[in-house]
Amino acid sequence: MSSSDSRSNLKPDTQLAHAGRDPLGFHGFVNPPVVHASTVLYPDVGTMVTGGQTYSYARRGNPTTDSLEGALKEIEGAAGVKLANSGLNAIALAILSCVKAGDHILIADTAYGPTRHFADTVLPGMNIAVEYYDPSIGAEIKSLFRPETTAVFTEAPGSLTFEMQDVPAIAAAAHEIDATVLMDNTWASPLFCQPIAFGVDLSIQAGTKYIVGHSDAMLGTIAASEKAWKGLDALHGAMGSHVAPDDVFLGMRGLRTLSVRLERHQRNTRIVLDWLKDQEQIGQIRYPALETDPGHALWKRDFSGASGLCGFDFRSSTTQEQAYAFLDALTLFGLGYSWGGFESLAIPVRLKGMRSATKVDPDLQSVRLHIGLEDPEDLIKDMAHALDKAFG
Ligand SMILES: *Cc1c(COP(=O)(O)O)cnc(C)c1O
Repeated sequence: MSSSDSRSNLKPDTQLAHAGRDPLGFHGFVNPPVVHASTVLYPDVGTMVTGGQTYSYARRGNPTTDSLEGALKEIEGAAGVKLANSGLNAIALAILSCVKAGDHILIADTAYGPTRHFADTVLPGMNIAVEYYDPSIGAEIKSLFRPETTAVFTEAPGSLTFEMQDVPAIAAAAHEIDATVLMDNTWASPLFCQPIAFGVDLSIQAGTKYIVGHSDAMLGTIAASEKAWKGLDALHGAMGSHVAPDDVFLGMRGLRTLSVRLERHQRNTRIVLDWLKDQEQIGQIRYPALETDPGHALWKRDFSGASGLCGFDFRSSTTQEQAYAFLDALTLFGLGYSWGGFESLAIPVRLKGMRSATKVDPDLQSVRLHIGLEDPEDLIKDMAHALDKAFG
């Protein structure tokens, strides 16, 4: 593998094309090999007992996982990267790598729902106290610190409701008490936000989304700062985490085109939202890249672009029947969870049981959209037709 240090001054698009591969180290082939493996053989028992070779056993890494980890290490500016078998698994491993019995973890109220489920169902049994905080808290997070606070989990923008967080301010406060700062950075992808640069210790991606990018594999990634790397590497090894080589390959393949895909997702989302905001049935649009979004200034400061995931509220008189009729009338937007593939998706936003530190209006009807790579004119026509059908 070429040295990442010599390339740290390359622009992100160049890193995406070159990071994590070394053609001359593998007979000149452009892409690294997809290594299907378990056992690794040693030339002699001396090498075996001293651990004197690069690979020891496939669970602990192989040239395929090294290639994707190496690429992300370079792109995220990390001390090290570990892969996980889903985004949620990456979140669970990252959290477990930095908390122990007796600790207290602060989690943004707007964290991804299954993150909350993990925290609520697994951590209390390990005697780890979980507390949710208002994502807009910023540096005031320090008012929630306890002597046993060791981790602060952030996610920006928030799942389903898209609130931005002042993650650099939270990180600075957390570091004063030596707590580890985690960020679920899936929305921006590692291309549009590199959280380690502004103080995050564990930068998490649901690689399932934009890294894989084609709705055909599950993957998680965790990039660690110098402070968090040792703990992450140790926990990941102890848990026996391993991602199958074909899925790692799909992540690697997706990474190469991340920039061109995101550029189009971003452009299409702009076009669709520009039309949507003027429709009489629509209330607030939720997308921090819009100048009118309350999180716009933070987004502009900390991110270099926006993805295709956004949301909107219907106007306040809208009934659930109307909102669901709209979703059912869509033909180009699939009804399905996950996002980040080439195709457009829509889901109803259901926040029941998902917020405890912030208020939500239980009667508000909202939708989360993933704007895909289709022609935005066709997406607009599809939505216009669905609005007509639902609202008559
Ligand atoms: C989808 C998602 C995850 C989980 O990823 P999986 O690969 O589906 O487990 C985590 N965080 C966010 C913000 C997500 O949207």
